[in-house]
Amino acid sequence: MAEKGAHLTGTTFIRPSIFEIIAQESFASTVEPAFKKILSFILSFNFERYGHLLRWADESYLIFNIILQRHYLKKYSASFSETFYGLKRIAIIDSKIKHRLPNKQEKLSLIFIVLFPYLKNKFYQLSQRYRFEEINGSVTHSKWQKLYRNCVVKGYTISFMLYEFMVLYNYVLYVAGKSVYQLPLLRLLSITLTYSKPQQILNISDLLRKIKDNSFGLSDGMDILQRTVTTSLEFGAFFLQFLSWWTQEHYQKSLITLPVPPPPKIPEIAKEYKGRCPICHKAIRVPVVLSISGYVFCYQCILPVIRNTRKCPVTNYPAQEDDLIRLYLD
Ligand SMILES: [Zn+2]
Repeated sequence: MAEKGAHLTGTTFIRPSIFEIIAQESFASTVEPAFKKILSFILSFNFERYGHLLRWADESYLIFNIILQRHYLKKYSASFSETFYGLKRIAIIDSKIKHRLPNKQEKLSLIFIVLFPYLKNKFYQLSQRYRFEEINGSVTHSKWQKLYRNCVVKGYTISFMLYEFMVLYNYVLYVAGKSVYQLPLLRLLSITLTYSKPQQILNISDLLRKIKDNSFGLSDGMDILQRTVTTSLEFGAFFLQFLSWWTQEHYQKSLITLPVPPPPKIPEIAKEYKGRCPICHKAIRVPVVLSISGYVFCYQCILPVIRNTRKCPVTNYPAQEDDLIRLYLD
């Protein structure tokens, strides 16, 4: 495919610089953490009640991303981050350039933009979990299960390295002018990126004139709404990043300068469980503490609960296996 399209370079469409491609890639990867930060910020107002929803953060982002990217693909023939950098997608089919994405390419674009990062993330989480359990030696498995887990852990590392290598190789080909495709996934779809026409930005005086002439239409309203949402998304993400940096910075300082605060009061329910496991109500065997709530359980009791419900059985705070800490009391 690269050979087919190679003669098109320079003459029929303008190739964006590699810096814009890399910048839009890294911008795309910041949208998900920003979304999750905003989600946990909203849920933190009533964490005890809604905190467990955080375990659906990946799926919530998936739905949000589908809606966001679908809108941008329909309207600008580009993903959210590509639009942000003034780029758009064009298809190269039988050496002909299609300036408007054909239906098939548009649908496949959406699937690749949305599903690829989601599946990659899930694969990563699974391999991390298996690796963690392997190191901990917490679960015993049959020979085949062990082999499968090994395949997942090694498979992730190998496929991740292969993909990164392909991305790099593709960049080199693109910079050298040997390929018109900027990314391996775009090559698969016979799609390349070029500059889009600059957007007509509706400024205040235009807006006032339109309202005065009574020509302010639905599309203008949508345009303003969309720009407001985009701008607040970007600023919101930046602001939250800044807040978390600020609190971290000051937290460390305050540890040295402020006096040690008194320990928090023991809740009534904790007094009930003194020396006993809140799940089996017996004396604790192999004590582990759930770091997000401070309650101590038998390791055998809490592990299946965390795996199934992903929350503390006493406080309902969202929890993961990583939050369990072994206590060596004897
Ligand atoms: Zn127990």
